[in-house]
Amino acid sequence: MSGTLPAPKLGEPYLLTPGPLTTSFPVKEAMLRDWGSWDEEFRAMTRELRARILAMIGPGASDYDCVPVQGSGSYAVEAMLGTFVPREGKVLVLANGAYGQRAARTLDYIGRAKVVLDKGDHLPPRGAEVAEILTNDPSITHVLAIHCETSSGILNPVEEIAEATRAAGRELLIDSMSAFGALPLDPAALGCTAFVSSANKCIEGVPGFGFVVVRKDVLAASGGNAHSLSLDLHDQWQVMEKTGQWRFTPPTHAVAAFIEALRAHEAEGGVAARGARYARNRDVMVAGMRGLGFETLLEDRWLSPIIVTFFCPADPAFDFARFYDLMKARGFIIYPGKLTVVDSFRIGCIGQMDEAVMQAVVAAADAALKDMGVTSAAPPQAALDERKKLAA
Ligand SMILES: *Cc1c(COP(=O)(O)O)cnc(C)c1O
Repeated sequence: MSGTLPAPKLGEPYLLTPGPLTTSFPVKEAMLRDWGSWDEEFRAMTRELRARILAMIGPGASDYDCVPVQGSGSYAVEAMLGTFVPREGKVLVLANGAYGQRAARTLDYIGRAKVVLDKGDHLPPRGAEVAEILTNDPSITHVLAIHCETSSGILNPVEEIAEATRAAGRELLIDSMSAFGALPLDPAALGCTAFVSSANKCIEGVPGFGFVVVRKDVLAASGGNAHSLSLDLHDQWQVMEKTGQWRFTPPTHAVAAFIEALRAHEAEGGVAARGARYARNRDVMVAGMRGLGFETLLEDRWLSPIIVTFFCPADPAFDFARFYDLMKARGFIIYPGKLTVVDSFRIGCIGQMDEAVMQAVVAAADAALKDMGVTSAAPPQAALDERKKLAA
């Protein structure tokens, strides 16, 4: 399929960001009509959405259900935590970036006890550390892992985290927001209780809702846990089962776009093909950027096919705001970095883009550096020292 994706119409820039991202024209076109939320046509769309998500999780799918919920991804994370962690539960949050930190804050808001394993900006939480914390604190009931921590782009080692959690007899919750649809995630094989993702990441829909995939027995037993009516997934599920409807106004156009995106995902070849295209995007883009002298925060084994963090060049002629504008003028929206120690920026690999687009991104970066008079894209020594932390 490489080199054959149509350009986004209407002269829009490509969004090299982790969602909202560049969607196909058919996905946009699917939103050009209105649906009644009660109407059978829309209820059929909701059924198709739930069935298609479950079809993506492998042979253990019959033990799981899919419950969509209105709002951005963070609403779905909050709904998952509030509905499946009982009020007397306690969560070990594995944090190595902004999304782990956000989940920890969420637990404070909703009044659930927590402990945080904080690995800073980009170090991965390892299975042995999780095992040790769980052994030393029998009151922990749940572990929350971030699949791809989008703030650095690191692909966290969910298998070893799952193994440690399973061995200790605790429940595993996964924020797979930016990974599901492009990276395999088999909750039955991992022993994962629930995971969450949203419409506008690797499935390439538009923003408007998230969805939680959860073990049916846990879902059925979760009544009365939630701290919030609108984020009560048990109530949402019961009403959806009984009436086929969302409890409150559904994001009808976003659902229509998502159905189109799910069909395109299947036509492309499912999770494996989507992940392969993104990995190719990353490989072409990273090789090209390294060729210009840029360096990645992460070594190759931790690089996700979702988004990549680059260090800003040390050259005083480099200015990120200017770089951003020069890239935008060439048709590419990039993303600022989130590292606290050194300056960085991020380039996403997900969305309706292929390697030809990524080659154009590299050419645009090259031209932008020349426009700014940057002679070397090499990062400062502090950045390389930061990266060494991961070498162990
Ligand atoms: C995008 C994302 C979220 C949700 O962010 P929203 O802005 O609320 O959609 C949560 N976790 C991760 C890892 C993400 O990438």
